[in-house]
Amino acid sequence: MSNQWIAGVDLGGTTTKIAFISMDGDILHKWEIPTDHSNEGQYITSNIATSIMEKLEELGQSKTVLAGVGMGAPGPIDYETGVILNAVNLGWSDNFPLRDSLESVLSLPAAVENDANCAALGEMWQGAGNGAKNLVCVTLGTGVGGGVIANGNIVTGVNGAAGEIGHITTLPVGGAPCNCGKTGCLETIASATGIVRLAVEEMNKPNSKGELTNIFNRNKKITAKDVIDSARKGDPIAVKVLNEVAFHLGLALANIANTLNPEKIVLGGGVSKAGKILLDSVQDYFDKFAFPPVKNSTKLALATLGNDAGVLGAAWLIKNKFIG
Ligand SMILES: [Zn+2]
Repeated sequence: MSNQWIAGVDLGGTTTKIAFISMDGDILHKWEIPTDHSNEGQYITSNIATSIMEKLEELGQSKTVLAGVGMGAPGPIDYETGVILNAVNLGWSDNFPLRDSLESVLSLPAAVENDANCAALGEMWQGAGNGAKNLVCVTLGTGVGGGVIANGNIVTGVNGAAGEIGHITTLPVGGAPCNCGKTGCLETIASATGIVRLAVEEMNKPNSKGELTNIFNRNKKITAKDVIDSARKGDPIAVKVLNEVAFHLGLALANIANTLNPEKIVLGGGVSKAGKILLDSVQDYFDKFAFPPVKNSTKLALATLGNDAGVLGAAWLIKNKFIG
């Protein structure tokens, strides 16, 4: 059994990452295929099965080497039933039986979980969590995702919607509209989209100047990376925007920590690549707002696995469920 592999799958809207992973969490082989979500997503799981079988053949292995297949998918998932409740971007109808579909095309044990939760499990197993069993992961990407792990298990909530850290209300009055239908969510500030929005608002004020403004005037647009790079060089608008992001993140993370007192809060996603310039000021605000015994025991850290977190967490589902 210990020589078996696990197939970890990270299903995305445009590409699907697949990896064969050892029981110890080493990535042995990894590759990507395009996600074909045409015809109501009917090819998604069969394409994954075909790709896995082709890779096994290429490696001279039979299917018996695989203990199972774990998958992270974008959308709320009922882990117990393996049903994805809503996945508009993938073409599936509501309540699509994802785990059953995967099991039937591969004839292997399968487990499915929300992709942000898989990333959290991956960081717990092989990344910044370093085995911590009480961990919160926050993904700062186009949006803001979250995963909460308590005693080694994902906290799902009554409707699979726990850990939606991006939709913590951080501006109760006058906040920007969020994709979820509310206003003032953390995601409207601490995502790449939020950072660009805040920076453009600042630059639209009279007499705006500086490096970031020059980039904006030249390209007619900016990216979150432009804001981060300009902040490193001391551009006042970029520094102001990142400080605002750090304030809201520090406040939200302190309140999460005040509730859960996890060992670690891990920050991942593209925006976290800002690194020290962001983390140090998030830490300052976290320290200001965290309950003292929490401040002294919950650590903030940057994610270490990057794009591999999803496939590793997906594989961990199988290890945890069938192997232990
Ligand atoms: Zn929201």
